[in-house]
Amino acid sequence: MLRFYNSLTHRVDDFQPIQPGKVGMYTCGPTVYNYAHIGNFRCYAFEDVLKRTLLASGLKVRHVMNLTDVDDKTIRGSQAEKLPLRQFTQKYKDAFFADIQTLRMIPADVYPAATETITEMIQLIQTLFDKGIAYQAEDKSVYFSIAKWPKYGQLVNIDRDSMRVGVRIKMDEYAKDSMADFALWKAWDEADGDVGWDSPWGRGRPGWHIECSAMSSKYLGKTFDLHCGGIDNMFPHHEDEIAQSEAANGCKFVNTWMHCAHLVVDGQKMSKSLGNFYTLKDILDKGYSGREIRYVLIGTYYRQSLNFSFQALDEARGNLQRIDAFVARIKDLAAARDAAAATPEIIALASGAAEKFLAALQEDLNVSAGLGILFDFIRDGNRAMDAGQVNAAGAQSMLAALASMDRILAVMEPDATETAVPAEVVSLTEQRAAARKARDWARADQLRDQIAALGWEVKDTPKGPQFVKR
Ligand code: AMP
Ligand code: ZN
Repeated sequence: MLRFYNSLTHRVDDFQPIQPGKVGMYTCGPTVYNYAHIGNFRCYAFEDVLKRTLLASGLKVRHVMNLTDVDDKTIRGSQAEKLPLRQFTQKYKDAFFADIQTLRMIPADVYPAATETITEMIQLIQTLFDKGIAYQAEDKSVYFSIAKWPKYGQLVNIDRDSMRVGVRIKMDEYAKDSMADFALWKAWDEADGDVGWDSPWGRGRPGWHIECSAMSSKYLGKTFDLHCGGIDNMFPHHEDEIAQSEAANGCKFVNTWMHCAHLVVDGQKMSKSLGNFYTLKDILDKGYSGREIRYVLIGTYYRQSLNFSFQALDEARGNLQRIDAFVARIKDLAAARDAAAATPEIIALASGAAEKFLAALQEDLNVSAGLGILFDFIRDGNRAMDAGQVNAAGAQSMLAALASMDRILAVMEPDATETAVPAEVVSLTEQRAAARKARDWARADQLRDQIAALGWEVKDTPKGPQFVKR
């Protein structure tokens, strides 16, 4: 049974897809005006865990993630760099796709770009216009009248008495206390340069919120199952999406809304001025692997703020080494030629761990509980191996349990950078081979110890030395 905290009902609800067995999921994607920072990736990592949990629960998932490639920020950025909008955003789109691969995220099925969905946005605005909910103001922009939509305020509590009726806000981002009629279509002005599309209301461009309303429904239908984003997206972005879509389509927009809490750095908000603002590359450049970063990003319950620190990355490295050592030990056993069947105790240990792990994830994505179950399994599995209770078939069933957990965690296979043999280890190995040839066994043993101190073991095989990371 899947149960998720729904920001719309403010409680943990049973999750039932509209079509049995299939889930439509929309996640607000990056605004491609800059390199995404690790706070953004916390959000995408939570969505990846969600998607993997749905898949591991036997559901099919259609995942749509938009790329906001036209809005206030992208236009400003392209002008600052004196580049056409498309060329400016392409660089950040490419970087985003490289980064999600580094973080082992399953790509979405569709990545609609806002600039390729303008026709659908205009249609949606036209419907709102025809229904009298949208209007064109003196500045030629088209606005959504919140006074005409009494259901405004489903995610956050809106004090209707303090609503600034007739006041308009053209910016995409604003705080709740400056809530007003928001822009659906922004009339072209000089600041927009060569960015603009023709519409029934004149040349202009869409507001940010209408982009997501149009792109989600184009690929998932007017009503769909899941919509996610970071907590800062709840107001005004998601609130405005609900208002536009429900007012235009006359039906419920999304059944379950899920939002993740923010990532903070050493307890402080991440900001350029504090010098604690990191892109993924900044952290990779410090010698951490994508796998280690993923481990930290997914390790905290998504509704709790995640305190990012380099100490957390070092701890992740230690935990992953424990996992790797356990996997290596079971793989050695599983490879043995042994026809005996697995014992019921080991089968129960392995399948019990896998089931408990999935159940923890199905209960509002409790990854921390899931990791606790994994480490209990490692402790109990090591004890059983110490006691000689695990034969090859038992080891196979333990590997199967780990594989099922890793369908969601995706951290058990080391990155290529983690398994690459360092040059120093290779050089010491060559010196050791020379020492052995000269029958200088004392020197060869000493070199072996030096290699071990670097965390590696060299096995002599007929095909030459084989390097194993310890
Ligand atoms: P943006 O590109 O700014 O629209 O953000 C992309 C996604 O990252 C949105 O869903 C945001 O809510 C989310 N996000 C932004 N900053 C953070 C943060 N510090 N921690 C977690 N999620 C964030
Ligand atoms: Zn969005």
